[in-house]
Formats: sequence, C-alpha cells, structure tokens
Amino acid sequence: MRSAISENLLRVTNSIETLKSSLGINYPIRLIAVSKLQPAEAIREAYDNGHRYFGENYVDELVQKASQLPNDIRWHMIGHLQSNKIKKLLSVPNLAAIETVDSIDLATKLNTQALKSRPNEKLNVFVQINTSNEATKSGITPENCHEIVSHIISNCSSLNFKGIMTIGLRGSAEDFVILNEAKRQICSVLSLEEREIELSMGMSGDYEEAIRNGSTNVRVGSLIFGERPKH
Ligand SMILES: *Cc1c(COP(=O)(O)O)cnc(C)c1O
Repeated sequence: MRSAISENLLRVTNSIETLKSSLGINYPIRLIAVSKLQPAEAIREAYDNGHRYFGENYVDELVQKASQLPNDIRWHMIGHLQSNKIKKLLSVPNLAAIETVDSIDLATKLNTQALKSRPNEKLNVFVQINTSNEATKSGITPENCHEIVSHIISNCSSLNFKGIMTIGLRGSAEDFVILNEAKRQICSVLSLEEREIELSMGMSGDYEEAIRNGSTNVRVGSLIFGERPKH
C-alpha cells in the first residue's frame, strides 16, 4: 500500500508535469521536498520513491540527517545561514546548493571555506532576494542584487552562481514578478543570458503559480510531508 507521503509526492510531481506540458515548458523544473522538522524516516520514504532533492532550514539538522541518509541525496540549504555554521554545513559532501546567500560578506566567507572543504567541486549558490521588502525576512533588496551576483562571479572562484531565490509573502504573486524583474536587471547589467539564471520560488500554497511565472526550483514541504511537527 502506498503511504500518504508517496501519494502526496506523486500528486505534486504529476501536477508539475501536467503544468509543464500545458504551458509548453521545455526546461527542467526541480522539486525540492522541504523536510525541515520531519524525521529521517519521512525523507527515506520519499527517497524510496525515487526522490533525490530535499531542502532543510537548519544546519545542525541538515548535517545530522545527511549522516543518516543515502549520500546520493541532493541537499539544498534553504534557511538563513550564519557565518559560524559555514564550516559545519560544508562538511556535508552531498550538499548540492545553498539557496540563501544574502550578503557579499557571506559569499566571501563561503568561497574561502569551499576552497578548503571541497577544492575539486564548485559550490552552487542562489542569491536570496527580499522581494516583499519585509524587515523580518533575509535577503538583499532587488535594486542592489546585481552587486552581489557580480561579486560571486568575479571574485568567488569556488562558488557557482545558479540563480536567485525569494520566499515572499504567502499568496502574493507580486513577489514572482519582482524576482523576474531582478533576473532581467542582473542579465542586463552583467551581460548574462536569462536562461543561465534559475528562479527559486513557490512553496506548497503557490508552486503552480510560481511555475506559471517561470520558476525552475519549487520548494514544497507540507503538501508532501503533511503538517510540520513543532520545533
Ligand atoms: C518551510 C519552507 C518552505 C516550504 O514551505 P511549505 O509551505 O511547507 O511548502 C519553502 N521554502 C522555505 C525557505 C521554507 O522555509
């Protein structure tokens, strides 16, 4: 019998495929199953159904789960990252991306540690943009985003700039529009191709809307794993 998690996962992956074909999208869309505060067994279940991309918010939790689970999982760090946790986070060999680079200083420190911890492989990073302009959210303002991207590309040889990410306000498609504008701005200032820049946006309540707005990386938690246990 299929469990709730495998059914939920199948429902979400199917809806993404359906949307892709109805919109004629021919680029890949990555589904990050957000497993924060969920037990390792829940992740294992999704893994046994073939899923490989998981997102975690807290460094200690990610490191602990990574040590208990198969090493072909592609972990995405999607929570706020403090400098004093960088070394610990980069000790995870199958860390696939950090989505929450929100300052030039953090990028510099990540670059230095990546050179030591994983000299043979560049570290994929997304720049987090605060599209909803909330003081409580991390991320840099859309107006200044090209500066940090330029810094990563020019000065951080151990980092691979993948794209930009936003959390945004729940239920507000405005954030998706602003992230797209940020992408265009980065491309025009730095002479990059638009298809070179990924957009990480969309969660359980709005991932379909995000895909309609060009998202290439959706982060879906509760729709797959159910309500989160309290911290
Ligand atoms: C928790 C979280 C998600 C997933 O949220 P759901 O609403 O459960 O899908 C996505 N992105 C970030 C950054 C999160 O912290």
